[in-house]
Amino acid sequence: MKIDFNAMPDKEGYFGEYGGQIIPPELKSIMDDIDRAYEEVRQTPAFKEELASLYADYVGRPSPVFHARRLSDQVGGAQIFLKREDLNHTGAHKINHCLGEALLAKHMGKTKVLAETGAGQHGVALATACSLVGIECEIHMGEIDIAKEHPNVTKMKILGCKLVPVSRGTRTLKDAVDSAFEEYLKDPQNFFYAIGSVVGPHPFPKMVRDFQSIVGREARAQFQEKQGKLPDVIMACVGGGSNAIGLFTEFLADEDVRIIGVEPAGKGLDTPDHAATLTKGSKGAIHGFKCYNLQDNEGNPLAVYSIASGLDYPGVGPQHCYLKDLERVEYVTADDQECLEAFINLSRTEGIIPALESAHAVAYACKLAKDMSADQSILVNLSGRGDKDADFVAEKLKL
Ligand SMILES: *Cc1c(COP(=O)(O)O)cnc(C)c1O
Repeated sequence: MKIDFNAMPDKEGYFGEYGGQIIPPELKSIMDDIDRAYEEVRQTPAFKEELASLYADYVGRPSPVFHARRLSDQVGGAQIFLKREDLNHTGAHKINHCLGEALLAKHMGKTKVLAETGAGQHGVALATACSLVGIECEIHMGEIDIAKEHPNVTKMKILGCKLVPVSRGTRTLKDAVDSAFEEYLKDPQNFFYAIGSVVGPHPFPKMVRDFQSIVGREARAQFQEKQGKLPDVIMACVGGGSNAIGLFTEFLADEDVRIIGVEPAGKGLDTPDHAATLTKGSKGAIHGFKCYNLQDNEGNPLAVYSIASGLDYPGVGPQHCYLKDLERVEYVTADDQECLEAFINLSRTEGIIPALESAHAVAYACKLAKDMSADQSILVNLSGRGDKDADFVAEKLKL
């Protein structure tokens, strides 16, 4: 049976059995409003042109596809190519969907955009988009994270968003989610909760995917133009799954292209310290939708871990769950050690310092390339740059 990947999700927001809206009825009607507004506005030339011109002149798109020749030579085997999302304004792929969400919120006449942030990456990208679009932005962040993530906290302050320190519970991401959500529930008609990946209730997994799919559309055309064919393998790291689905979407119907998502194995899959949701998780509900989850026996999310803070989420986007079950995408892992090695290797062979998140995909690409031939190719989504991780890695490796 041929599956029409473009027809996903269905009207209720399901990708197979995953996704949906596992939320109270009041919120369901608000989410349905967002879906209607999104479906209406996305078709209009005005919205399409505004987003396209911001991608070009503000984000700096298209981001290049770079042939990492020295890395490929060092590894020996397939040629490795990098889709350079690290070169975007604000240094990662997140700006692609934050701009889309901020524009939609403005279009719907919302008065305030709200979100939580862990390491601050989503907070900075969203605060940036809100400054540009001209809409109020409020970011909730745990006090522990505020103390740890100084540069991002400073940036958010400079960008003029309202930063709300969260002092309850563990004072980290989980509590920031609860705090931001409580604020949102005070006036969901007028507030817009901007979700930071392809997760949460419908329509967010669909919307965020659509905004990110520019990555794969560009990469497919760029690769084909320069190489005269498609890559044999494409690959991306998977936290919530937005940069991965952004690359994958345009290639799903290309049966000859092997697609691989790389999850963080942290300190090892046989320890509790990983965030390999698709590899080790079981089905359940989290944050308003159904997906594979890392959960305890009562169905509560486990405290997950990765050296890359952008990957440590106990759930994962519903479309990835479906693509796993269909066996259209393979989900594999790279651990902290492999990630650190890839981080240093890419820096020293190509002069590109990757985000620790992206280094997971680079690590697996290097491993796989060895078993492939020199006329084959792997295209890796380099989701972000590693400035944010440089001090941490230098200290960790005693450089
Ligand atoms: C946030 C982040 C990720 C993880 O998010 P996804 O939704 O899985 O893409 C990956 N890479 C970078 C650089 C990030 O900032």
